[in-house]
Amino acid sequence: MDLRDTPAEAEFRAGLRAWLAANLTGELQGLRGGARRFEEFGREWSRKLYDAGYIGLTWPEEHGGQGAPYSHQAIFLEEMARAEAPAHIGVIGLGMAGPTIIVHGTEAQKARYLANILSADEIWCQGFSEPGAGSDLAAVRCGAELRGDRFVVNGQKVWSSYAHIADFCILVTRSDPASLGHKGLTYLIADMRAPGVEVRGLRQITGESEFNEIFFTDVEVPVENVLGEIGGGWQVAMTTLLHERGTMGFSLTAVLEVSLRKLIALARERGADAVQRDRLAKLWVELQALRYTNYRALSQLMKTGTPGPEGSVTKLVWSEANQRLTKLALELLGPEAPLFEDDAPFGGFWQWHQLRSRGNTIEAGTSEILRNIVAERVLGLPRGR
Ligand SMILES: Cc1cc2nc3c(=O)[nH]c(=O)nc-3n(C[C@H](O)[C@H](O)[C@H](O)COP(=O)(O)OP(=O)(O)OC[C@H]3O[C@@H](n4cnc5c(N)ncnc54)[C@H](O)[C@@H]3O)c2cc1C
Repeated sequence: MDLRDTPAEAEFRAGLRAWLAANLTGELQGLRGGARRFEEFGREWSRKLYDAGYIGLTWPEEHGGQGAPYSHQAIFLEEMARAEAPAHIGVIGLGMAGPTIIVHGTEAQKARYLANILSADEIWCQGFSEPGAGSDLAAVRCGAELRGDRFVVNGQKVWSSYAHIADFCILVTRSDPASLGHKGLTYLIADMRAPGVEVRGLRQITGESEFNEIFFTDVEVPVENVLGEIGGGWQVAMTTLLHERGTMGFSLTAVLEVSLRKLIALARERGADAVQRDRLAKLWVELQALRYTNYRALSQLMKTGTPGPEGSVTKLVWSEANQRLTKLALELLGPEAPLFEDDAPFGGFWQWHQLRSRGNTIEAGTSEILRNIVAERVLGLPRGR
């Protein structure tokens, strides 16, 4: 693979850089997903990105996308991360619900939902995890009983990011109460404003409430909101999970590079001993390895149109490297490390990132689960169970 930008890619990158320079105001730069201020500005910022033609780059044109190659999406994620621009507020709609609707949705579902995902007019959340079903999604117990032309949903979901601002939820339910495991699951599109839906925020270690519990009590979901087949929810959920880690590697690697450059500046300013310098160098090497793994993932995606398991490698290595990186930053800050937010140096940037990085090795597949995937699907080792 030739790693240099083609003329068309270079033109796209230059155009995006110029657009970001003109539109990314200081107020928006560095705004994080969980921050309340992001929820205030997020829709307007997302709409701006959409109007400029940067959202849905790889989505088919018939569904409001740009029909661009995956390399453009990779460049978009990379440049956005380098500029410290906030992401589109509809990360779950764009990255998971939309691609799943494109693969499994009826024409009516595509017409109803896709355009509003792109424009950020409607926000989505993901209702997969439950108190007894996280890594083991096949243990889902949230019930959906078919009564005439509607399902009646009763049960609980947890850790649902953005549920407090979401309009719709991609919801994995057990529609056959006698079933076990992968069978008897149905994938629904649930209206978050329907009677019987209750969202309760969960406070994270950062102090922000980015995710929530969702309680469903006799919530009616019309049968036309089934995505895929009744009882075929597992296959649909697998499509969602494949896309979750799809091209995110480019964004994660660029975010890591931005943080590492800040860490190097901090080490210069505060001084780092020989062992700390060695740790910095190791992080730099890891960053380069990640970059090339991303290119491998991209070339696989461009050949097959489906994300491969390389995304799991990137997510695993990135999340653990990011924890080590932010820990080293706090060591360099020394006695100032326990300060938080406005009292802390750099507005608490390092403290927040160290605390938020704890969740990175849990969300979108825990490190243990990702190691299983890498062992089985990348290295071809025998299945663990
Ligand atoms: C910030 C954040 C945002 C999230 N957002 C969402 C969201 O929007 N929607 C949603 O549905 N979920 C979301 N989640 C939930 C996330 O997907 C789950 O937390 C994750 O899948 C792990 O499930 P669990 O918490 O039930 O832990 P468990 O699955 O109970 O795991 C507990 C421990 O056992 C280990 N373990 C489990 N199974 C195995 C195995 N087979 N082999 C080896 N070790 C194993 C795990 O690695 C972990 O260390 C989010 C989580 C976080 C942290």
